[in-house]
Amino acid sequence: MTRILVTGGAGFIGSHFARSLDEAGLNAPESGAHVTVLDKLTYAGNRANLDGVRHEFVHGDICDAELLRSVVPGHDLVVNFAAESHVDRSIEGAADFMRTNVLGVQTLLQACLEAGVPKVVQVSTDEVYGSIDIGSWDESAPLQPRSPYAASKAGGDLIARAYAITHGLNVSITRCGNNYGPRQYPEKVIPLFVTNLLRGRKVPLYGDGGNIRDWIHVEDHCAGIRLVAEKGEPGEVYHIAGTAELTNKELTARLLEACGRDWDMVEHVEDRKGHDRRYSLDDAKLRALGYRPEIAFEQGLKDTVRWYAEHRDWWAS
Ligand code: NAD
Repeated sequence: MTRILVTGGAGFIGSHFARSLDEAGLNAPESGAHVTVLDKLTYAGNRANLDGVRHEFVHGDICDAELLRSVVPGHDLVVNFAAESHVDRSIEGAADFMRTNVLGVQTLLQACLEAGVPKVVQVSTDEVYGSIDIGSWDESAPLQPRSPYAASKAGGDLIARAYAITHGLNVSITRCGNNYGPRQYPEKVIPLFVTNLLRGRKVPLYGDGGNIRDWIHVEDHCAGIRLVAEKGEPGEVYHIAGTAELTNKELTARLLEACGRDWDMVEHVEDRKGHDRRYSLDDAKLRALGYRPEIAFEQGLKDTVRWYAEHRDWWAS
């Protein structure tokens, strides 16, 4: 029997992860499996993201130690997606990022420790390393975050490492590149551009458009997390790299084409403050455990654009 707690599971990646448990046969009623989703339902959380997913929902905050003491015990696996996740918002104001991404992680890990949870996965990001012009980071690269968001995620990762070393908590950390797919809140570049173009609105391209991101389909990310939940070592970090390295300008060209629009729909706007130029992860460590991404970027992007075109009700409100 596996009882899995997915914190932040009403958000973009967490809801895909919960759905992937159903699809991978890890949440079959007859096996006694049980999935609990705990989510604060911030602007980014949406219970509709979990439509059709077998789960019990708890509305709550990972900073709430008392609530966690009643929810966490009895789970065999806790996977933490709960976070403030948008860099631009962290530039406007960082307090919520420190609260959830640092204090929230510590509060959750403490609850897992007290409840004797056998396995925890802390979901993190390549942004903790800063920016890299050439080559790729492996898991031993120094943490050099450059935005308040990235700094708060690095803080959460270091707390996870400390709980593994000091307390022997079996927590592994995953770090992934930029995700895309259905149900991503339309503040992130792909859903923002697609929904703007579908509405006939212009899209804002930061700076010279030369910033490089390595894109991964959310379902490949979730497969990597499931593998780390199964095989990850305590205190260890695992990279889940993207499959398509593109400048923002190249990405924009593909989105314009997919939506049947021209460059006259693009508005060049002032660059983001402290904008990281490039991220790139080496994922050899996870591949040695058997990980392989399966979704080609061209197909994944086409399917994603179609999903937003067919689900206006999800994003128009
Ligand atoms: P998201 O913003 O779509 O979802 C975050 C979810 O967490 C929301 O449902 C929100 O309601 C919930 N939440 C926020 N604060 C909470 C709190 N205090 N207690 C409980 N729930 C809370 O984010 P996402 O894109 O799904 O990202 C999930 C995780 O993956 C984050 O930790 C993020 O850092 C990491 N990550 C994201 C990407 C990406 O490209 N989106 C890439 C790498 C890593």
